Amino acid sequence: MTASAVQDGRVLRLNYSKLRLLILEEGSHILDFCRAINIPVTGHETTYDESIAKDISAGVYNCIIVDGADDNDICMNILASVAGKPPFLPVIVIDGSLGFLRRGASECILRSDLTAERLETALFNADRLCKLNNRTTILEMELSAFIEEDPLTALPGRSKFRMRMAKAIEKAHAAKIPASLIILDINSFRELNEIRGHEFGDEILKRVAKRLINIAPDNSIIGRLGDDEFALLALDQETADPVGGYASRLLLEIRRPYLIDGQKTDISLSVGLGILDDHDTADSLLYKALAALYSAKRDKTSIVLYTHEDDHARRRQLRLAQDLPEAIKHNQLLLNYQPIVRIHDQQVIGVEALVRWQHTKHGLLFPDTFIPLAEGSGSIEALTEWVLAAAVRQGADWLEHGSRLSVSVNISALILHNPAFPDMVERQLDKTGFPAELLKLEITESAIISDVNRAREIVFKLHDIGVRLSIDDFGTGYTSLAYLRKLPVDEIKIDKSFVLNMPRVADDEVIVRTLLDLARNLGLSVVAEGVEDAQTWRMLEALGCDVAQGYFMSRPIDLKTFNDWLTVQSWKQELN
Ligand code: C2E
Ligand code: CA
Ligand code: CA
Repeated sequence: MTASAVQDGRVLRLNYSKLRLLILEEGSHILDFCRAINIPVTGHETTYDESIAKDISAGVYNCIIVDGADDNDICMNILASVAGKPPFLPVIVIDGSLGFLRRGASECILRSDLTAERLETALFNADRLCKLNNRTTILEMELSAFIEEDPLTALPGRSKFRMRMAKAIEKAHAAKIPASLIILDINSFRELNEIRGHEFGDEILKRVAKRLINIAPDNSIIGRLGDDEFALLALDQETADPVGGYASRLLLEIRRPYLIDGQKTDISLSVGLGILDDHDTADSLLYKALAALYSAKRDKTSIVLYTHEDDHARRRQLRLAQDLPEAIKHNQLLLNYQPIVRIHDQQVIGVEALVRWQHTKHGLLFPDTFIPLAEGSGSIEALTEWVLAAAVRQGADWLEHGSRLSVSVNISALILHNPAFPDMVERQLDKTGFPAELLKLEITESAIISDVNRAREIVFKLHDIGVRLSIDDFGTGYTSLAYLRKLPVDEIKIDKSFVLNMPRVADDEVIVRTLLDLARNLGLSVVAEGVEDAQTWRMLEALGCDVAQGYFMSRPIDLKTFNDWLTVQSWKQELN
């Protein structure tokens, strides 16, 4: 039994006799549907339990369709149990949240879109993805076997070191043994390599490794993480204690001059140090030591212990949160504008207003560093009002000078639950006479679902005022599609994480295509953000996406630069 579908002009064939399909749903809607169009079904279950999980892991099925509207948890469990483990098992979700795509679902389909053609395309895609993924996993496994042992120094390579480290850390946690990770990096190794030759560079690496092996304490674990990066996991009281100065002693020893071909060579090193906390994993400890190493390199100090940096960062955050209300009052905030462009005629139709903080001491700060602080310290209302006022004022000014641009403002989840918010919006519109339909409020999926009823009421009020609503970072949250349909939303913005790698990652293209299909069926217009090059632009154009935003056209820029950009628009040259 075979079926075929045409996609991108190519005929695809799928052999149904090889399909071992499991359907998971409370009723029998999907089952009936599959039977009606002659898709063979191997298993049909109404609940997910251990015996099904066992069958799945035993390879009884090679494709799963699950009703995502039934129960988020079931979907999550299934995806967690199949995602990332070879052989790749495609999971098609009906009516579930798009966030499941992130968790490894191969496709999300609205129940109302469930046609024979749609399902067959999904099965083809699943089949293709399955082959693709299984091939890459095999490649990855081969690759990791290859890099297990570094042939030059005979030390474990990165992945092997990480594996050993993970095991050791588990034991250290269980036995309450202190542990710390030291990462050493040879400064200017690339220059050394270029000036003295690769053989010389290799010789240095070998010697460094040898010294490391000689002086590492018995129960420690060592490895070579990258070109000139070595790691040592110290696992006993004395060496793991940073105050004891083991890392400095190690550094001194490795730094002693090397005698190669009768010639003395000095090298300099940077060291990052992380100490194992109760909640640390191998990866978080690696992260700490690497972060410390980068600070050491940046500050040109030889050893940096992660916790110091961390404390420093935390203290700085507290101070920033305290400074914020004053900064808002004294107009230390400013807006940057990023153009939003209609794809089919390359027209600039709007801007997104993105806030910055010109801090008297720390310079220009980006929103990711202070919006969370504003939310946590109660300044977010004042901040939002400032941004709204400034954005609407600017929009009115453009309009007066003949540019009809929509202005998008980001609204934090907390604000969306404040019943006074619609009044604030109305007030700002009244002040300037800016048309409501040119103001767009960008809200995230999670903002809506964190308190559905309250948010719903406020969203409807905003809709009544006439402002447009846009769902930001679409595809990353867990809103069910059926629910989105019930809200007066005008537009979705596909999260940039899907768009950024579209030209290189086939899965991302499939996701963007799916998101576009869904949006179209919901009657929403679509903005793709994170468009960084002409190739991505062209792919989006071919997929029929309406609107684009991204560094390819322009980064967010200040008012004057934006006005200049608007008249010149040299970005178009690359397309023509
Ligand atoms: P967002 O709403 O997702 O805004 C888009 C962010 O993506 C901006 O970062 C922008 O610089 C960046 N971006 C745009 N095009 C590209 C691209 O092609 N490639 C890449 N790699 N990045 C691109 P920014 O300005 O740092 O803003 C970060 C986040 O801060 C925003 O994410 C938004 O959630 C929040 N934010 C900004 N302004 C406000 C505000 O006034 N109020 C609130 N509540 N949040 C804000
Ligand atoms: Ca946004
Ligand atoms: Ca976004």
